[in-house]
Amino acid sequence: MWHIVSIIFGALVGSFLNVCIFRLPKKESIIWPGSHCPHCKKPIKFYDNIPLISYILLMGKCRYCKNPISFQYPLVEGTTALCSLFLIMKFGPSLSYLFYFALVAALIVITVIDLYHQIIPDVINLPGIGVGLIASLILPQNTFLNSLIGALLGGGSLFIVGTLYQWFFKREGMGGGDVKLLAMIGAFLGWKAVILTILLSSLIGSITGIIIMVLKGKDFKYAIPFGPFLSLGAVISLFYGESLINWYLYLNR
Ligand SMILES: [Zn+2]
Repeated sequence: MWHIVSIIFGALVGSFLNVCIFRLPKKESIIWPGSHCPHCKKPIKFYDNIPLISYILLMGKCRYCKNPISFQYPLVEGTTALCSLFLIMKFGPSLSYLFYFALVAALIVITVIDLYHQIIPDVINLPGIGVGLIASLILPQNTFLNSLIGALLGGGSLFIVGTLYQWFFKREGMGGGDVKLLAMIGAFLGWKAVILTILLSSLIGSITGIIIMVLKGKDFKYAIPFGPFLSLGAVISLFYGESLINWYLYLNR
Protein backbone atom coordinates (compact mmCIF):
# COMPACT_ATOMS: atom_id res chain seq x y z
CA MET A 1 0.00 0.00 0.00
CA TRP A 2 2.69 2.51 1.05
CA HIS A 3 4.68 1.52 -2.02
CA ILE A 4 1.92 2.71 -4.35
CA VAL A 5 1.36 5.90 -2.33
CA SER A 6 5.09 6.66 -2.43
CA ILE A 7 5.23 6.21 -6.23
CA ILE A 8 2.24 8.52 -6.80
CA PHE A 9 3.60 11.08 -4.30
CA GLY A 10 7.04 10.88 -5.95
CA ALA A 11 5.62 11.43 -9.44
CA LEU A 12 3.60 14.45 -8.26
CA VAL A 13 6.64 15.98 -6.56
CA GLY A 14 8.66 15.19 -9.72
CA SER A 15 6.16 17.20 -11.74
CA PHE A 16 6.74 20.17 -9.40
CA LEU A 17 10.53 19.65 -9.66
CA ASN A 18 10.25 20.09 -13.46
CA VAL A 19 8.66 23.50 -12.85
CA CYS A 20 11.52 24.41 -10.47
CA ILE A 21 14.11 23.25 -13.02
CA PHE A 22 12.71 25.56 -15.71
CA ARG A 23 11.88 28.58 -13.58
CA LEU A 24 14.56 28.83 -10.84
CA PRO A 25 17.43 29.72 -13.25
CA LYS A 26 15.21 32.47 -14.75
CA LYS A 27 14.29 33.70 -11.25
CA GLU A 28 10.59 33.25 -12.07
CA SER A 29 7.88 32.37 -9.55
CA ILE A 30 7.49 28.61 -9.13
CA ILE A 31 3.82 28.96 -8.11
CA TRP A 32 2.31 31.39 -10.62
CA PRO A 33 1.41 31.33 -13.49
CA GLY A 34 0.37 27.74 -14.26
CA SER A 35 2.25 25.60 -16.80
CA HIS A 36 1.99 26.43 -20.48
CA CYS A 37 3.40 24.98 -23.70
CA PRO A 38 6.75 26.69 -24.49
CA HIS A 39 5.91 26.59 -28.23
CA CYS A 40 2.30 27.75 -28.57
CA LYS A 41 1.98 29.30 -25.04
CA LYS A 42 -1.41 27.58 -24.52
CA PRO A 43 -2.07 26.84 -20.81
CA ILE A 44 -1.83 23.13 -20.00
CA LYS A 45 -5.13 21.70 -18.71
CA PHE A 46 -5.01 19.68 -15.49
CA TYR A 47 -5.90 16.46 -17.36
CA ASP A 48 -2.85 16.97 -19.60
CA ASN A 49 -0.64 17.56 -16.57
CA ILE A 50 -0.84 14.15 -14.87
CA PRO A 51 2.74 13.01 -14.17
CA LEU A 52 4.02 10.27 -16.53
CA ILE A 53 0.51 9.29 -17.69
CA SER A 54 -0.21 12.46 -19.68
CA TYR A 55 3.11 12.18 -21.51
CA ILE A 56 2.21 8.66 -22.63
CA LEU A 57 -1.40 9.54 -23.56
CA LEU A 58 -0.26 12.58 -25.58
CA MET A 59 2.56 10.46 -27.09
CA GLY A 60 5.07 13.16 -26.13
CA LYS A 61 3.39 15.94 -28.15
CA CYS A 62 1.52 19.13 -27.19
CA ARG A 63 -2.28 18.65 -27.58
CA TYR A 64 -2.61 21.91 -29.55
CA CYS A 65 0.51 22.57 -31.62
CA LYS A 66 1.86 18.95 -31.74
CA ASN A 67 5.39 20.14 -30.94
CA PRO A 68 7.35 17.58 -28.89
CA ILE A 69 7.23 17.78 -25.08
CA SER A 70 10.72 17.59 -23.57
CA PHE A 71 11.66 14.06 -22.46
CA GLN A 72 12.99 15.72 -19.32
CA TYR A 73 9.40 15.79 -17.93
CA PRO A 74 8.76 12.03 -17.74
CA LEU A 75 12.44 11.37 -16.92
CA VAL A 76 12.42 13.63 -13.83
CA GLU A 77 8.94 12.40 -12.78
CA GLY A 78 9.96 8.76 -13.17
CA THR A 79 13.29 9.21 -11.35
CA THR A 80 11.63 11.05 -8.46
CA ALA A 81 8.91 8.37 -8.21
CA LEU A 82 11.53 5.58 -8.14
CA CYS A 83 13.65 7.36 -5.50
CA SER A 84 10.50 7.87 -3.41
CA LEU A 85 9.73 4.13 -3.64
CA PHE A 86 13.30 3.09 -2.69
CA LEU A 87 13.29 5.53 0.24
CA ILE A 88 10.00 4.19 1.62
CA MET A 89 11.38 0.66 1.29
CA LYS A 90 14.45 1.73 3.29
CA PHE A 91 12.87 3.99 5.94
CA GLY A 92 9.15 3.11 5.94
CA PRO A 93 6.49 5.83 6.19
CA SER A 94 8.39 8.07 8.62
CA LEU A 95 9.92 11.50 9.15
CA SER A 96 13.23 10.05 7.96
CA TYR A 97 11.58 9.20 4.63
CA LEU A 98 10.33 12.80 4.24
CA PHE A 99 13.67 14.43 5.09
CA TYR A 100 15.72 12.16 2.84
CA PHE A 101 13.16 12.52 0.06
CA ALA A 102 13.55 16.31 0.40
CA LEU A 103 17.32 15.86 0.00
CA VAL A 104 16.96 13.61 -3.07
CA ALA A 105 14.41 16.00 -4.63
CA ALA A 106 16.83 18.91 -4.12
CA LEU A 107 19.66 16.85 -5.68
CA ILE A 108 17.52 16.02 -8.74
CA VAL A 109 16.74 19.72 -9.34
CA ILE A 110 20.39 20.69 -8.80
CA THR A 111 21.63 17.96 -11.19
CA VAL A 112 19.41 18.99 -14.10
CA ILE A 113 19.96 22.75 -13.60
CA ASP A 114 23.74 22.24 -13.34
CA LEU A 115 23.73 20.15 -16.56
CA TYR A 116 21.83 22.88 -18.47
CA HIS A 117 23.31 26.05 -17.01
CA GLN A 118 26.50 25.12 -15.07
CA ILE A 119 25.09 26.81 -11.97
CA ILE A 120 23.72 25.53 -8.68
CA PRO A 121 21.10 27.89 -7.28
CA ASP A 122 21.79 29.19 -3.74
CA VAL A 123 18.04 29.19 -3.22
CA ILE A 124 18.24 25.37 -2.85
CA ASN A 125 21.75 24.96 -1.33
CA LEU A 126 21.64 27.43 1.53
CA PRO A 127 18.21 26.53 3.00
CA GLY A 128 19.24 22.89 2.43
CA ILE A 129 22.19 23.26 4.83
CA GLY A 130 19.80 24.66 7.47
CA VAL A 131 17.21 21.91 6.94
CA GLY A 132 19.91 19.23 7.17
CA LEU A 133 21.20 20.61 10.48
CA ILE A 134 17.70 20.87 11.96
CA ALA A 135 16.79 17.37 10.68
CA SER A 136 19.78 15.93 12.56
CA LEU A 137 18.13 17.00 15.84
CA ILE A 138 15.02 14.95 15.01
CA LEU A 139 16.17 11.96 12.96
CA PRO A 140 17.45 8.76 14.62
CA GLN A 141 19.97 8.24 11.76
CA ASN A 142 22.04 11.33 12.60
CA THR A 143 23.34 13.52 15.43
CA PHE A 144 23.75 17.30 15.37
CA LEU A 145 27.52 17.05 15.85
CA ASN A 146 27.84 14.57 12.97
CA SER A 147 25.71 16.84 10.78
CA LEU A 148 27.70 19.98 11.69
CA ILE A 149 31.07 18.28 11.07
CA GLY A 150 29.64 16.91 7.81
CA ALA A 151 28.64 20.39 6.61
CA LEU A 152 32.01 21.93 7.61
CA LEU A 153 34.04 19.05 6.15
CA GLY A 154 31.98 19.03 2.93
CA GLY A 155 32.15 22.77 2.34
CA GLY A 156 35.71 23.15 3.68
CA SER A 157 37.33 20.34 1.68
CA LEU A 158 35.92 21.49 -1.67
CA PHE A 159 36.74 25.12 -0.82
CA ILE A 160 40.40 24.17 -0.25
CA VAL A 161 40.51 22.02 -3.42
CA GLY A 162 38.94 24.86 -5.42
CA THR A 163 41.34 27.48 -4.04
CA LEU A 164 44.42 25.31 -4.71
CA TYR A 165 43.20 24.50 -8.22
CA GLN A 166 42.66 28.17 -9.02
CA TRP A 167 46.07 29.00 -7.57
CA PHE A 168 47.85 26.37 -9.70
CA PHE A 169 45.92 26.57 -12.97
CA LYS A 170 44.75 30.21 -12.81
CA ARG A 171 41.17 29.25 -13.67
CA GLU A 172 38.13 28.23 -11.74
CA GLY A 173 37.73 24.47 -11.42
CA MET A 174 35.33 24.19 -8.54
CA GLY A 175 32.40 26.60 -8.37
CA GLY A 176 31.11 28.08 -5.12
CA GLY A 177 27.90 26.17 -5.84
CA ASP A 178 29.74 22.84 -5.50
CA VAL A 179 31.15 23.94 -2.12
CA LYS A 180 27.68 24.77 -0.77
CA LEU A 181 26.21 21.61 -2.32
CA LEU A 182 28.64 19.31 -0.51
CA ALA A 183 28.04 21.28 2.70
CA MET A 184 24.31 20.54 2.28
CA ILE A 185 25.00 16.84 1.61
CA GLY A 186 27.20 16.74 4.74
CA ALA A 187 24.50 18.41 6.86
CA PHE A 188 22.00 15.72 5.80
CA LEU A 189 24.22 12.63 5.76
CA GLY A 190 27.08 13.31 8.20
CA TRP A 191 30.86 13.36 7.81
CA LYS A 192 31.45 9.71 6.78
CA ALA A 193 29.05 10.13 3.86
CA VAL A 194 30.94 13.29 2.82
CA ILE A 195 34.19 11.32 2.44
CA LEU A 196 32.35 8.56 0.57
CA THR A 197 30.60 11.13 -1.66
CA ILE A 198 33.93 12.78 -2.55
CA LEU A 199 35.49 9.39 -3.40
CA LEU A 200 32.51 8.18 -5.44
CA SER A 201 31.93 11.46 -7.32
CA SER A 202 35.64 11.85 -8.18
CA LEU A 203 35.77 8.27 -9.41
CA ILE A 204 32.58 8.44 -11.50
CA GLY A 205 33.48 11.98 -12.65
CA SER A 206 36.96 10.92 -13.83
CA ILE A 207 35.63 7.90 -15.70
CA THR A 208 32.98 10.05 -17.38
CA GLY A 209 35.58 12.73 -18.17
CA ILE A 210 37.87 10.16 -19.82
CA ILE A 211 34.97 8.72 -21.86
CA ILE A 212 34.00 12.21 -23.07
CA MET A 213 37.64 12.97 -23.90
CA VAL A 214 37.96 9.77 -25.94
CA LEU A 215 34.65 10.35 -27.74
CA LYS A 216 35.21 14.06 -28.44
CA GLY A 217 38.96 13.97 -29.14
CA LYS A 218 41.78 15.07 -26.87
CA ASP A 219 40.95 18.73 -27.01
CA PHE A 220 39.06 18.75 -23.73
CA LYS A 221 39.27 22.19 -22.19
CA TYR A 222 35.78 22.90 -20.93
CA ALA A 223 34.96 21.78 -17.42
CA ILE A 224 32.12 19.31 -16.95
CA PRO A 225 29.81 20.38 -14.11
CA PHE A 226 30.64 18.53 -10.90
CA GLY A 227 27.22 18.98 -9.25
CA PRO A 228 25.61 15.93 -10.92
CA PHE A 229 28.49 13.68 -9.77
CA LEU A 230 28.32 15.01 -6.20
CA SER A 231 24.56 14.39 -6.25
CA LEU A 232 24.96 10.85 -7.59
CA GLY A 233 27.70 10.13 -5.02
CA ALA A 234 25.42 11.42 -2.24
CA VAL A 235 22.49 9.23 -3.35
CA ILE A 236 24.74 6.13 -3.48
CA SER A 237 26.07 7.06 -0.01
CA LEU A 238 22.51 7.47 1.28
CA PHE A 239 21.42 4.01 0.08
CA TYR A 240 24.62 1.97 0.25
CA GLY A 241 26.94 4.06 2.47
CA GLU A 242 26.90 1.68 5.43
CA SER A 243 27.38 -1.42 3.27
CA LEU A 244 30.26 0.22 1.36
CA ILE A 245 32.00 1.35 4.56
CA ASN A 246 31.54 -2.08 6.20
CA TRP A 247 32.84 -3.79 3.06
CA TYR A 248 35.90 -1.50 3.07
CA LEU A 249 36.57 -2.19 6.76
CA TYR A 250 36.12 -5.94 6.13
CA LEU A 251 38.72 -5.86 3.32
CA ASN A 252 41.19 -4.01 5.54
CA ARG A 253 40.92 -6.15 8.67
ZN1 LIG B 1 1.93 23.71 -27.85
